[in-house]
Amino acid sequence: MSSTDDIRITGDPILEEVCEPIDTIDDEVKALARSMLDTMYAAEGCGLAAPQVGVNKRLVVVDCEWGSGEKTPYVLINPEIVETSDELRTTGEGCLSFPGVTVQVERPRRVVVHATNLDGDVMRYEAEDSLLAVCLQHEIDHLDGKTLLDHLGPMARMRVKKQVREAIEAGAKPGDVAKPEKASKSKGK
Ligand SMILES: [Zn+2]
Repeated sequence: MSSTDDIRITGDPILEEVCEPIDTIDDEVKALARSMLDTMYAAEGCGLAAPQVGVNKRLVVVDCEWGSGEKTPYVLINPEIVETSDELRTTGEGCLSFPGVTVQVERPRRVVVHATNLDGDVMRYEAEDSLLAVCLQHEIDHLDGKTLLDHLGPMARMRVKKQVREAIEAGAKPGDVAKPEKASKSKGK
């Protein structure tokens, strides 16, 4: 299963739910991670969170390198942000649940994340001023029921909702992003 048609679009209530922690890394969780990676690569995204495929679990997959050729998938189970910088940085972000849209979002420049991998090992991820730094924060937002909309004021929120509607009507699919205004990278997340 790797259809991008399974990706939930903004407005779907599951994108606003806080996801449940994963207690056991069983075959179901492993299959979910595999299927999410397939979906993410099919949509040419660099990250995907379980609620985006309709599953209320704290699991995200990330690969911020594969645009350069090689696949380096990370599976993060129950990820937690343990450290962030005070310094912020604004970049253009896309989201597989927001086809056709890029939004300027301000976030900490540096982030440290702890998460369990599929072997049950707790891993530490540290990223600064990179696509990975943005992507980790973006995906963990999804597990807390937050999307790009939560980073916008009321007017911008309405504008983005309208842009998504119009993009979908014009045939945009998850993974299609608007031309970024200044950021060089804006793959869907
Ligand atoms: Zn997203």
